[in-house]
Amino acid sequence: MILINDILDLSKIKAGRMEIEVIDFNIVKAVESVTLPFKHKLGKHVNVSVEFDKQMPQFVRGDLHKLIQVLNNLVGNASKFTSKGEIKLQAFIKEHSDEIIKIEFKLSDTGIGIPSENLNGIFDSFSQGSIDTVRKFGGTGLGLAITKRLIELQGGNIFVESELGVGTVFTFEIPFTPSKVTETEVVVNEVKRMQEKDSLKGKKILIVEDNKVNQKVVVSILRNLMVESMIANNGKEAVEILQTVNDFDLIIMDLQMPEMDGFQTTVYIRQKLKIKTPIIAMTASALRNEKGKCFEMGMNGYLTKPFKPESLIENLNTLINEGENDKQEKQNEMSNIGLYDLEQLKQIGDESTQVEVLTVILESTPVLLGDLKRALLFNDLDSIYKNAHELKSNLGILQADSMLQKCSSIEIAVKENNMKDVPEWAKKLDDEFKLIKPMLEDEITELNKTIAKME
Ligand code: ADP
Repeated sequence: MILINDILDLSKIKAGRMEIEVIDFNIVKAVESVTLPFKHKLGKHVNVSVEFDKQMPQFVRGDLHKLIQVLNNLVGNASKFTSKGEIKLQAFIKEHSDEIIKIEFKLSDTGIGIPSENLNGIFDSFSQGSIDTVRKFGGTGLGLAITKRLIELQGGNIFVESELGVGTVFTFEIPFTPSKVTETEVVVNEVKRMQEKDSLKGKKILIVEDNKVNQKVVVSILRNLMVESMIANNGKEAVEILQTVNDFDLIIMDLQMPEMDGFQTTVYIRQKLKIKTPIIAMTASALRNEKGKCFEMGMNGYLTKPFKPESLIENLNTLINEGENDKQEKQNEMSNIGLYDLEQLKQIGDESTQVEVLTVILESTPVLLGDLKRALLFNDLDSIYKNAHELKSNLGILQADSMLQKCSSIEIAVKENNMKDVPEWAKKLDDEFKLIKPMLEDEITELNKTIAKME
């Protein structure tokens, strides 16, 4: 999955489809939010430190998420290749005017270093320091290629110096725009938040989260707001709870959970239970186009972990007390997405035939999807075509129109040898199938119940 995501990111950048999002953000906090987890992870053998230019303003305008992705890649690498000594991140102001604030980041480690003959190609795709790097350290060899392009997209540049056995220094510059957000605005926002806090009293929230620590954190924040909360330890439990009680003002949904993840659960809630309660996604990744995907699936808000109580409050307030109209619009959009329809299957045969067909589909579709992705990696056009075609018979029975359309598009793309969008479609097929899988499993359980009653 990491490899495929990396390839997708890279092809998106190359096709010029990676967009820059400009927002005002607190640069000091952003940088610290990346380094802090590594500080804890690396413990006492490696000292992780951050140093800011004394003149560094709190806020700048730029692409926060891309900066975080870049820093995560670089600090992640440094931590992978450094077993003792230090990892130091410094941020200097190189240029500061009304229009521009150019910041230079210097990340130095005392790790294994990179052989000089490999330094030149280190930003190329699939490059790794030495032959046994993958075996020892894992990785896709795409991180730095993506990092360099993300920096260049923001108008910056990056270079590396390294000495084998001594350490590595990555230096990159990004031109940001000075932010107009001032301390006064921060204070005004503070007052606004106090008022928001009050208006949440007495609301009821369902927390869907498998991690015990996160459960405690969210519950205690909500308790301070006098909000009542209930916990579902995973997606399945959430669905069960919602089938019996459905008086929640809001649902907080973790995305990464075993068995039924946040996306699958959300689609289940919206499509099968037809429940319209606002859902806020909670995720640790904050990367890629996950936010867009959340809204597509029918969620209404998005929060990245670790989050500040204030951002949770702000999100809750927007969704519970304001934005009723927005919410409505989004849900209407969602209800138009037909993921599958079993009408046709019902005409094929009796309940036990339906169970048999559904079982075969549930077993063979993931295999075909896996083969399709493998074929894509090797650019094996015949096999891509064949798998897309075979998938169509499964999806046809399910009347899974959106997925069917993607398979047809893949067939056409292969014929026209225009493969640009195919990896993206393949990934979407995978995602969509994951979404309907729990619902199809339920259909089988229901059918089996009917069969048992008849016997
Ligand atoms: P990967 O995902 O495999 O880490 P990258 O593109 O991020 O791919 O890195 C490519 C290679 O560069 C790594 O496999 C490693 O050999 C080398 N490298 C990157 N950063 C460092 C570092 N801080 N110290 C030593 N080697 C590094």
